[in-house]
Amino acid sequence: MRKKISIMLLVGYLICQSRGMLQAQTLNIDGQVVAYSQAPIELYVNQKLIQTTVMDPVVIDNRVLVPSREVFEAMGAKVGWDNATKKVTIEYKNQTIILIVNDPKAFINGKVAEMDVPGKNINGKVMIPIRFVSEAMGMNVKWDSANRSVWIDEPVDGSTEVTQTPNVQNVVTSAKSTQFVASIVASSAMKDIQVFTQTDKVIIDIPNSKSLLNRTIAPVSNMYVANIRTSQFTADTTRVVLDLNTPVNVSTNYSSDCKSFHLTLTSKNGSSALPEGDTSNGSSNNDSSNNGSGNTGSESGDSNTGESNNGTSSGTTSQTMTYTAGSKPKLTLPGITTSKVKVTDDYRNKILTLDLGADYSKTIPNKVLKPNDAYVDSITVETKGTTKVKIVTNKIYTYNLTSSNNQAVFEMVRPKEKYRQIVVVDIGHGGSDSGAVGNGLREKEINFNQGMALYRLLEADSNIKVYMTRETDVYETLKFRATLANEIEADLFVSIHNNSASSTVTGTETLYYPSTTDKRGEKIAKLVQDGIIKTCGTKDRGIKPRTDLFVLNSTNMPAILIETGFISNASEAQLINNAVFIDKWAKSVYGSIVEGFKLLQR
Ligand SMILES: [Zn+2]
Repeated sequence: MRKKISIMLLVGYLICQSRGMLQAQTLNIDGQVVAYSQAPIELYVNQKLIQTTVMDPVVIDNRVLVPSREVFEAMGAKVGWDNATKKVTIEYKNQTIILIVNDPKAFINGKVAEMDVPGKNINGKVMIPIRFVSEAMGMNVKWDSANRSVWIDEPVDGSTEVTQTPNVQNVVTSAKSTQFVASIVASSAMKDIQVFTQTDKVIIDIPNSKSLLNRTIAPVSNMYVANIRTSQFTADTTRVVLDLNTPVNVSTNYSSDCKSFHLTLTSKNGSSALPEGDTSNGSSNNDSSNNGSGNTGSESGDSNTGESNNGTSSGTTSQTMTYTAGSKPKLTLPGITTSKVKVTDDYRNKILTLDLGADYSKTIPNKVLKPNDAYVDSITVETKGTTKVKIVTNKIYTYNLTSSNNQAVFEMVRPKEKYRQIVVVDIGHGGSDSGAVGNGLREKEINFNQGMALYRLLEADSNIKVYMTRETDVYETLKFRATLANEIEADLFVSIHNNSASSTVTGTETLYYPSTTDKRGEKIAKLVQDGIIKTCGTKDRGIKPRTDLFVLNSTNMPAILIETGFISNASEAQLINNAVFIDKWAKSVYGSIVEGFKLLQR
């Protein structure tokens, strides 16, 4: 105890020393070196002094900037940084905040929030204006210029939750020998949930809700359910789909506060035994005996086991995380409950992240593996609350997560090894590239509204796997878009654009690459074009062969580009950005893609 106090005093003393002093320093602001000689500023979050290791708050152009990571981590938020896209992702309560260095547009739960000045990279830290923290995020912010201190406090009454719309936060599962239970958990009461039971899937629609589950799939491995998929099905409906291994009977009930909705699946065929070693909480028994001394020492020794683990013979249960190289690279994780694992598939950056859902630092300590093979670039294990395994791959992989003998097996497979029908939807333009501009509208935004509506329909269809070239307002090169589709080995590429010409021109056209050997692109263009004309009633400008468009001539699969309408025509500009129109349009294009896949399979 005495030791603790003296350390604290020492820390306090050091801080006191460094504050007061007016020291000249240089700041590297987005690559430019600038002299800075103002007195240091103290940062308080929720009344606690935060030790800012690299960057204190600074005043630049009369604006106070604070280090985003230190501020939000002090509030218990998860803060992620993607160096490639210069993007900070903050998961705070039920909000996801995305900030991009030097971009004044931030996103809060997908909605744009303008910043008065964009975040800046200063000495390697992303610094953001306190005004954004107060106005966009509802924090109580005080700048005490006399005492050189910034005070940021979270609102006490939870008023950052703007509405009572339930945020669907999690799908928790448990498997027993005779039944499988999936519980959908939300931030506030859900109601009017609809359940549709089919032979191969159970669809659950939660009206008036926001999904925080986008892009997360929880694969489960038992006799009832193969996969759980979730999506924001419409603007206010969350859809959860359980892909079934066998036909089931479903019974449902709400928790007393209606924040949970339970589905209990039992077999329709009467058989009830689960495969052995597959219960949901098999790890609890032998944890304490396994974790004793010496275990961490052996960790590094056999972590890169080459081919030795390939057989997956049921008798071998490793005590540590092991990586197995090969065309289906594999991670084996001991003592992990797969139903708690959340996988984030950041395919555009070739990063798969497993959040193991609990602290496993005793059996899987922090480390970085560099396999140095053709499949995986690095594997980073880090425990911050929960243990996360971040896998940076050299190719685009999807995955299968299974469990046996009390260990989880995360097998990376190429998209084509898992999915029969893959479409890449390319939302045209974005970021600094607005596309065509007219009648107060920017093409990139219309493309986005259309493309994301189409995405939601495709994502909810368990027979189709959809990948997106962008899902935020970012600039991506044409080469990136085509290369992504080629690396995925997609079956179909659909690019979403809108047109511009003189103000009187209107109508829809669909472009395709005129291959001499493969007519499927042309046929799908015709399906899509005819569908839009019939459903949306726009003028038919026909399908058009184009050899000069990069995304059409550089993609290895049938590729089309839809120009739905003309932003340069006043009434059509309003029409193509209208929510009712986009809903019809998306259903039509989705239907044509479903038809198109039948044609592709021939
Ligand atoms: Zn365009």
